[in-house]
Amino acid sequence: MRLSNKVALITGAGSGIGRESAILFAKEGAQVAVCDVNLATATETVSLIEAAGGEAIAIQADVSKAADAKAMIEAAEAAYGKLNVLFNNAGIFHAADGSVLETEEDIWDLTIDINLKGVFLGCKYGIPALLRAGGGSIINTASFVALMGAATAQIAYTASKGGVLSMTREISVEFARQNIRANALCPGPVETPLLQELLADPARRQRRLVHIPPGRFAKAVEMAQAALFLASDESSFVNGATFTVDGGITAAY
Ligand code: NAD
Repeated sequence: MRLSNKVALITGAGSGIGRESAILFAKEGAQVAVCDVNLATATETVSLIEAAGGEAIAIQADVSKAADAKAMIEAAEAAYGKLNVLFNNAGIFHAADGSVLETEEDIWDLTIDINLKGVFLGCKYGIPALLRAGGGSIINTASFVALMGAATAQIAYTASKGGVLSMTREISVEFARQNIRANALCPGPVETPLLQELLADPARRQRRLVHIPPGRFAKAVEMAQAALFLASDESSFVNGATFTVDGGITAAY
């Protein structure tokens, strides 16, 4: 029970990495605030947790909206009395995101609003709650594309994830002496609905697969296991890290 007596809030927890993390965190003893813009899928995640004997609540929140971000933190604190782990994980990839020459301004704005501003707002309203609890762990989901240029053009997504990584580093420095750690999880491609959208074109999917040393995409639970380590006290001296979980993509040439 690596998260017993901890309260964790996870955004984008109605699907993929967020859902698997919510399930695993609850199994490890955390009370989990399952946040998603989609209340139905967040509620499904809660049902899965409760069926396994865990404790969770569903909260509807669009992370790109300040009022929602503030309200989700308040709801988690109201339900469980504190917040120890903040996992800013919600993110999108838009099918119309591509080359810098072709990507329209509205696609750029939408992607940056959810993927980057969403993490900013989560931290803006979540850090005071962590401070009230005496400290805590922040995990922000970036991506391996924050570290490498994507051959499959996706300019807004790539830029948003680079921003998440840089922002996480700054936060890790600012709050380290107040017992808050902040780390950026940089997944490689994970078999989730987001990836299916990103690699809907079979040729694009195959091109991506060639560059993954193990020759497969990650499972969402493999990201959840990394997030669990970062959330738990086992990672007590891990701060400001670029926590890459990519099967070795960034090691390859
Ligand atoms: P997913 O599509 O399975 O889940 C994302 C969840 O975020 C969905 O439930 C969706 O409803 C929710 N969401 C979308 N917009 C939201 C908003 N405005 N407010 C709140 N919730 C919102 O995706 P996933 O693959 O699990 O992705 C999770 C994170 O991991 C994302 O930040 C993504 O960019 C990142 N990531 C994914 C991969 C991958 O290959 N799947 C690789 C690297 C990074």
